Amino acid sequence: MTAVDLGIPRVPGAHTRPSAPRPDTPALIDTFGRVATDLRVSLTDKCNLRCSYCMPAEGLDWMPGEQLLTDDELVRLMHIAVSMLGVTDIRLTGGEPLLRPRLEHLAARITALKPRPRLSMTTNGIGFAKRAKAFADAGLDRINISLDTINRATFERIARRDRLPHVLNALAAAREAGLDPVKINAVLLRGINEHEAPALLRFALAGGYHLRFIEQMPLDAQHGWNRSEMVTAEEIQDLLGTEFTLTPSPAKRGGAPAERWLVDGGPQEVGIIPSVTRPFCAACERTRLTADGAIRSCLFSTEETDLRALLRGGVSDEDIADTWRATMWGKLAGHEINEAGFAQPIRPMSAIGG
Ligand code: SAM
Ligand code: SF4
Repeated sequence: MTAVDLGIPRVPGAHTRPSAPRPDTPALIDTFGRVATDLRVSLTDKCNLRCSYCMPAEGLDWMPGEQLLTDDELVRLMHIAVSMLGVTDIRLTGGEPLLRPRLEHLAARITALKPRPRLSMTTNGIGFAKRAKAFADAGLDRINISLDTINRATFERIARRDRLPHVLNALAAAREAGLDPVKINAVLLRGINEHEAPALLRFALAGGYHLRFIEQMPLDAQHGWNRSEMVTAEEIQDLLGTEFTLTPSPAKRGGAPAERWLVDGGPQEVGIIPSVTRPFCAACERTRLTADGAIRSCLFSTEETDLRALLRGGVSDEDIADTWRATMWGKLAGHEINEAGFAQPIRPMSAIGG
């Protein structure tokens, strides 16, 4: 689905949105002409790790169970998304999505939707190894496994749990189950794992995994993000440049957030996601559903729309679709991390879905 040209310039960073009437189209368009086709679904806010850039060591309250959408409610919303709103891609995330009971079963229900969405998952990989084949059989197409270091002590320092072998097993199992590509998401923390970036890339290249570094964003539950502590995309290029030659990949980026680099002339690549220093908001194709049934037009939205009450109040699919469209129509031009007065959203990344 292509962007609808409303004759309105796409200006990231502006907090205002143009007051144009919404064209009569079923798609999830916004006032800047973007069309959301990529749905991120958070399945739980719980996690079995405590990555320091995401959660505090302890003291985070979980959403009460009755507030979480049931599998039937999730499938209904995803059915509305693919059949009425033009969503083509669904990513399962969290919190840790694998903590959701019987997730393979839910995955199979999603890939049975018509039209069939491409299904992917972002996970920390804990416990995935023994479930990889079941997920592949359920139709999971692609997976991103988060791994910030291949040093066991550093892993424990960042994730506050000694689980590196579980994640390495998950990566190998994903590849053996035929998931393709298997991507690795990595966050670099200054003075902790930044110097290990080349070793992580060497590991990814040897294993055939697609590594992407993500700039650390102000979305941690404890509000501890600090710009000067963030390892920037430019620094990541320099760190990798100490061992590898990076040249821009000729591959088209489209709505993908990663800037892609050929490593030592290619064909293997590394991605860098400069969410803060070079935001890609102007090309964003995402819409988000939280585990408790709120629609968000952006990770950084300070407003969201509750669909759970509508679902449980007996509202029709068409009315839910209209509410979703209206929420996306109100999407702002971009996040404002680099603007004075930026306010971190109340929900942390783990409760929105990364
Ligand atoms: N638990 C799963 C995982 O870790 O992959 C899925 C949820 S996690 C919130 C999704 C992705 O967000 C992970 O790759 C994680 O590294 C990344 N992430 C978490 N907090 C972040 C932050 N403050 N800045 C940038 N990326 C972050
Ligand atoms: Fe858990 Fe993922 Fe957050 Fe780490 S980044 S604490 S694995 S939700």
